[in-house]
Order: sequence, then C-alpha cells, then structure tokens
Amino acid sequence: MKSTCPPLLLCLSLALPLALPLMNSAVAAEDAAPNERFAACLKTLRSVAAAKGVSTTSFDRLTSGLTPDLSVLEFLDYQPEFQSPIWDYLASLVDAERVTDGIAMRAKWADTLALASERYQVDPATIIAVWGVESNYGRNFGKRPLLTSLGTLSCFGRRQSYFSGEFVSTLKILDSGDIAPEKLLGSWAGAFGHTQFMPSTFLRLAVDGDGDGKRDLMGSVPDALASTANFLHKGGWREGQPWGYEVILPAGFDASVSGRRDKRPLSYWTGRGVRRADGQPIVASDAAAGLLLPAGPQGSAFLVFRNFDVIYGYNAAESYALAIAHLADRIKGGTPFVTPWPTDDAGLSRLERRELQTLLAARGHPIGEVDGMIGAKSREAIQVEQQRLGMKADGRPGQKLLSSLRANQ
Ligand code: CA
Repeated sequence: MKSTCPPLLLCLSLALPLALPLMNSAVAAEDAAPNERFAACLKTLRSVAAAKGVSTTSFDRLTSGLTPDLSVLEFLDYQPEFQSPIWDYLASLVDAERVTDGIAMRAKWADTLALASERYQVDPATIIAVWGVESNYGRNFGKRPLLTSLGTLSCFGRRQSYFSGEFVSTLKILDSGDIAPEKLLGSWAGAFGHTQFMPSTFLRLAVDGDGDGKRDLMGSVPDALASTANFLHKGGWREGQPWGYEVILPAGFDASVSGRRDKRPLSYWTGRGVRRADGQPIVASDAAAGLLLPAGPQGSAFLVFRNFDVIYGYNAAESYALAIAHLADRIKGGTPFVTPWPTDDAGLSRLERRELQTLLAARGHPIGEVDGMIGAKSREAIQVEQQRLGMKADGRPGQKLLSSLRANQ
C-alpha cells in the first residue's frame, strides 16, 4: 500500500518512545571483537562438553565455522513495557482459527493420538492444544539455527550458565543423529520443533512416536505428539480428571483465598457458594482445587486441579496454561467462557489483528508483514493512530481501535 501520511508519521514516530528492543549498549561496547571472545569461549565450552560426554571430535565437527549472532541478545534483554491483559492473550491464542484447525488436526492425526494417549494416559485434545499454541500446528517453528543462538547466549549476556547447558544438550542431540544439524532451527532461546521443546527437555522426554528409531521433533508429527504426551505423563497427568472448569462466584465473594497453589477440598468451595458456570453440579469431595482469578474477582473464575499444574509445567505461566486448557475444551466442543472479562474493549483474534495491520498499512504505516503478530512496528503505528483518534496512546490492539479504523478508511 502506498503511504498516505509519511511526514506526519515520521514526525510522530520520532517523538514516541521507541518500542523496539535495543542492543544492550554495555554488551556492545564490551565486545569490540566478539568473534575473538566467542572463539575463546568455545574453547571453554569444548572442555565443558567433553566432561558431559560430547567427544572433542564431535564438538569440533559440529561447531566448525560457528560464529555468534549477537541479535539474540536483544531478546534476552528485552523487557516488554507492555503487558498484555489476559483477554488479549486469550483472544489471539484461542481464536476461531485455532479451534477449527485443532478439530481438523485431531481428526487427521486420530490414529497417532489414540496410540499416544493410550500409551501415556493423556487427553488427546490437550496434546493437540499444546501443538496449536506452541507452533500453530507446525506452522511456526522459529528460524534460528540452534547452535548459533545457544552458542551466543552461552558466551554473552545474562544466564550464560543456563544457556551453556542447553548448548551442550544441543550437541548431544546432533551427535546422536536424531535430527540433522541444518534442520535444527528454533526460537531465539533454543526452543524447537512442533511442540517447542528446549534441548534439555528433548533429552529427558522426547520419544520416537513413529518407530523409525529417531526422535525427530522437527520432521515427525507422531514423534512430537508422543513426546508431548510423555511430557504431560511424566508431569503427573491424571487421565479422566479435568484440568478444571469455569465457576461462578456468589455476590460479595471474599476473594482473599485464591490462587492456583492454594488448593482446598471441593467441599470448601461448594460451602462458600461457588458453582459451575455450565450448570453441572460440583460433587463435594476431598479433591483439591485452587481458585484461579486471572483478572480478579470481577472476571472469569476457575477451579483448577492437578492437571492444570501439569500444563503449567510446560511453560510456567498461568495465562499460558489457561490458553492450552481452554483450547483443549473448545476442540472438544466446549463453549467460550460464560463470565466476560472486566473490560469494555475486548481483544482481537488473529484474523482481526491481520485486518488491523492491513488498515494500518493502508494509512501508510511501515508495519512490515501482515502476519497477525503485533510487534514493535505495529504497536508504534497503533500509538500514532490512537493519538490521532483521541484515544489513549498505549499501543494496545483492541476492538475499539479496530472499529474506529474501519469507520475511518
Ligand atoms: Ca521417529
């Protein structure tokens, strides 16, 4: 699209705080010769790897020609100034597309799922939901060579000791021949494949689902689904039990006792007047559940059981676990939450985010690819438009902004 307001845009964007993560200037100044420093660091890692069972021959073969990619440090040091509210997070992660795709994938991989869920005693829809959230069912793997990213993070920036462990794990994966080096691409932090395992997680939990003798989480859907099932199984999944369910709190409910970890017998919650949102009875028992209030007592509320903690173990964030759990329910035909979130400006699905980006591009904003992912450029453009429309310029993609831009084409 041709730009319609470049001078204004340029002027305003210079005045706004830059949302892009910047290279840590201290690191940049310190590393006048990062290649030399990297080479020295690799020598140390060679000894570390040897002590952990990676032969120096393998190390030399796998790291030959390896150079650092300092751009990954931007992500390491990036502190998002913008925390997405839970309703934005769920609106894009559990949208109509991902539910429809999940239903199709569950049907397509029914035999594979049946085997994995029988072997590991895990709910098939939850396996599919992890896949859907982690890589959009195999569409988004990340494009960074793992050894380059993890080698860099092992030698520069914070958390070098953690990342050097992952670097050595990556060498072990490649040395075993499970995955070819040129195929091992992933996120900036080293998560890779259909279900975005970290290398150390791969070594602990990846399994061969299709029986070809290799654990290939990049190229084999059966391997990835079986490995996810194994992850949930080892995390303590109790098949046949729910992750939890939405509940309705009585008027004037005292929410001082809440939280995933503060588990109480169901009889405690029924005694306080908590009831299921779907109208089914809560059978009072000793089963322990915590009261999850992602947006406080005014928003959707949930009683969560042990299986919720197992999902949480995949990526330690309650909003993440709720997205997986809810997506699994929706794939099984469940409905959206009954109690609305406490906002008058709901979040956008990925389809709506792409529409918003298209409208922003049409107004001349250089937002890059229309991909439904609201990054720094899109957020900056949103701020400019919010300012123009007299809205709070917080960079948030919401329904109100989308409606205004539709009306102002
Ligand atoms: Ca395999």
